[in-house]
Amino acid sequence: MTSILQALSCADDYDPNSLHVDRARQLILDLLPAVSGHERVFVRQALDRVLSEDVISPIDVPAHDNSAMDGWAVRFDDLSAGGETRLKNIGTAFAGRAFAGKVGAGETVRIMTGAVLPQGVDCVVIQEVTRVEGDAVIIPSGQRRDQNTRRAGEDLQAGRPAIPAGRKLRPAEIGIIASLGIGEVSVRRRVRVAIFSTGDELCSIGTPLAEGAVYDSNRYTLWGMLTRLGCEVIDMGVVKDDPAALEAAFREAAACADAIITSGGVSVGEADFIKRLMAQLGEVAFWKIAMKPGRPMAFGRIVPDGADKPGAWLFGLPGNPVAVMVTFYQFVRPALLKLAGLDPIPPVPSFQARCTEPMKKAPGRTEYQRGILSRENGEWCVRPTGAQGSGVLRSMADADCFIVLEHERGKVGAGDTVTVQPMNGLV
Ligand code: AMP
Ligand code: MG
Repeated sequence: MTSILQALSCADDYDPNSLHVDRARQLILDLLPAVSGHERVFVRQALDRVLSEDVISPIDVPAHDNSAMDGWAVRFDDLSAGGETRLKNIGTAFAGRAFAGKVGAGETVRIMTGAVLPQGVDCVVIQEVTRVEGDAVIIPSGQRRDQNTRRAGEDLQAGRPAIPAGRKLRPAEIGIIASLGIGEVSVRRRVRVAIFSTGDELCSIGTPLAEGAVYDSNRYTLWGMLTRLGCEVIDMGVVKDDPAALEAAFREAAACADAIITSGGVSVGEADFIKRLMAQLGEVAFWKIAMKPGRPMAFGRIVPDGADKPGAWLFGLPGNPVAVMVTFYQFVRPALLKLAGLDPIPPVPSFQARCTEPMKKAPGRTEYQRGILSRENGEWCVRPTGAQGSGVLRSMADADCFIVLEHERGKVGAGDTVTVQPMNGLV
């Protein structure tokens, strides 16, 4: 494998001490391949999984020419262009129970939505515009050939890809698979992610909180975010700031996971041995990203037994709880989607909203404030969720969007327009 650190340092505008968020995200995406390995699963189990090979349609959908409306099945050439046409009613075509005969000149058949078009028919006239007089049906002028009909193979054609590999299977795709009569599909195996928290001050839930200690929350937010993304989570608990314990944790994680996510241990104030250890066990870059929250981050590969072993990708996130979540959504989420085989990776939707309060902001870094959206006088408005410190997890819990203050942007005045990323679908 080519050296990660070499690949990174050859990239344009690569300054590990001041990396633009877009650059950091792209550097990560460019290096990661999709995991190999797939499994066959039943159609219902395929929900939210990533398709690993195209689903080829074995049939035409719809399988037959059929009616799109309830009405009268007619031969277009029978209709008079200038006035009404009188046709003879000779039967009915139901969905699932076709009309057996042929529709001849001057004849019509009552037809239901989804019923197979009888032989000879090339037009359906909706019942609302017609009149019935005994066994005659009066059709007004102004009809078009092929109107209100659905052609065989109009949605999907036999032998052609119905769903491409790389697509995440949502309810619509699950329905399409069922509509083809397919019971099982091939999906990528789930990405395995090992997580652990570092810090001597961390206390696991279930134990009393000692003086100066904090409960470990990062493993729980990480577990939640990873579970939502469809990853298999290997929770390795809290690891003390102790070289032997950390080395053992990294070795174990690299042996069983595709990616390792740690929190804490990468900031300036941390004991240097953690960073040294990460670097010794593989190829790890330490970045200062021009963003808030979440400035320090480690990225690379842990390959403790040499480059010929698979190893695992490392995302060393900062320790502050909000910084963990923001760096996860901005960098780790797209990276894991790439590992999961999603192709293309959909962009995160954003739109403009009017900010109801002023916000401090210095140019030269991207900020992700947490906000609450509302609709006022027909336009989107957003207000920040109180204290925005990177340790204030409540600012995430109360928020329904990120307020993205772009790299070059300065302070925001009340009433200014800002970019928002709704958390719905992202978080
Ligand atoms: P660090 O990046 O390790 O210097 O940690 C920065 C801040 O985040 C400190 O106040 C830590 O106590 C806090 N912190 C670190 N890890 C966790 C965690 N797993 N859960 C909650 N808070 C944490
Ligand atoms: Mg720490």
